[in-house]
Amino acid sequence: MKWNTALISIRSMPDSYDIKKLRPERNKVNPEIPYHFLHEEEPDEHGNLQQVNTIFLTGKECAFECTMCDLWKNTLTTLTPAGAILKQIDYALARLPKATAIKLYNSSNFFDQKAIPISDYPGIIDRLQSYKKVIVENHPNLCGNACVEFNEKLGGTLEIAMGLETIHPDVLPKLNKKLTPEDFREATGFLGRNKIQMRAFILLNPPFLTDQRENIEWTFKTVQFAFECGVDCCSIIPTRPGNGIMEVLKQMGEYVTPTLDALEEVFERSLALQQGRVLVDTWDIGFLSDCPQCFEARKHRLEQMNLTQQFQQPINCNCNY
Ligand code: SF4
Ligand SMILES: [Zn+2]
Repeated sequence: MKWNTALISIRSMPDSYDIKKLRPERNKVNPEIPYHFLHEEEPDEHGNLQQVNTIFLTGKECAFECTMCDLWKNTLTTLTPAGAILKQIDYALARLPKATAIKLYNSSNFFDQKAIPISDYPGIIDRLQSYKKVIVENHPNLCGNACVEFNEKLGGTLEIAMGLETIHPDVLPKLNKKLTPEDFREATGFLGRNKIQMRAFILLNPPFLTDQRENIEWTFKTVQFAFECGVDCCSIIPTRPGNGIMEVLKQMGEYVTPTLDALEEVFERSLALQQGRVLVDTWDIGFLSDCPQCFEARKHRLEQMNLTQQFQQPINCNCNY
C-alpha cells in the first residue's frame, strides 16, 4: 500500500524525497581532485574549431535535485571546502594541453557559493587569464550580478550553460527543476544585456513524455525557444536512465529511451534553423541503438556534424529503412 502511494506521487509530481530515496550509491570522490577532465574540439560562434579543456570539478551537490539528473553521483554531501576548487584546477591544468576555451563544469551551479566558494573567485580568475572563453554551468534562477562581476574580471568572455530541459508545460514542472520558460527568458535577457554568452541544455525524451514523435517535436520546439531567447548554442542531450528514479519511471511507462533516429532528426532540423550552434551529446549513446551494423558510423556522423555544423549524408542500414 505504501509502495502504491509512493508510485502515485512519483507519477504525478516527484519531489526531492521520492528522487533521493531511489538513488543508488554515490561514487567516492576526492575534493582535491576533479572527478574527470578532458581535451576536446568544438566549433566557436564563428564556426572555427576551438581547442577546449573541460574540467569536471568535484564539489557540493546541486540543491535542485532534478528528476533526470545523475550528476550528484560525483559530488560531495558537504560544502565545497575553500581552496579545493583551486587545487582541482591546478591538478587538471598540469595534465591538459594548451587550449583557447575552458569548461568548468561542477555538476551543480557555478554561482552557488556553497558549491564554488566566493573566496576562490580571485584564484580561479587568475588561473583562467589565458583563456578566450570560459564556460560554466548555472541554473537560470541563479544568474545575477555575481556572473556580471566574474565576467568583467576574466581575460576572456564568459559563457553560461543553463539547463532549459524542455518547454513542455506538463513535463517541465515534473522535473523538480523549479524553473519555468519565463524564468529562462528572464535569465537570458539579463545575461544578454550584460554581454555574457549562453548555451542551453535541452533534453530528448525527458521523463513523462513517452510518444517518440512528440518527443522529437518538443525537443525541436525547445531548441527554437532557446534561440528566440538569444542563446548562442543549444546542446541536445538524450535522457538516460541510471539514477534510480528513471528506472522506476521506465518500468511505470513514464519514460522511454530515445532512439538514434530521433536524435538524428532533431539534430538535422535544429541545424537547419541556422540560428546558432547546435551540438548533440554523443557520450555513451550506445543505449540509443541496438544495431551493431550501423551504430559506430552513425555516431561518427553525429560527431562530424558537431564539429562542422554542417549536414552530413545519412548512414543507411536495414534497421532505419
Ligand atoms: S539543476 Fe542541473 S545539476 Fe542541478 S539537479 Fe538539475 S540537472 Fe542536475
Ligand atoms: Zn543499423
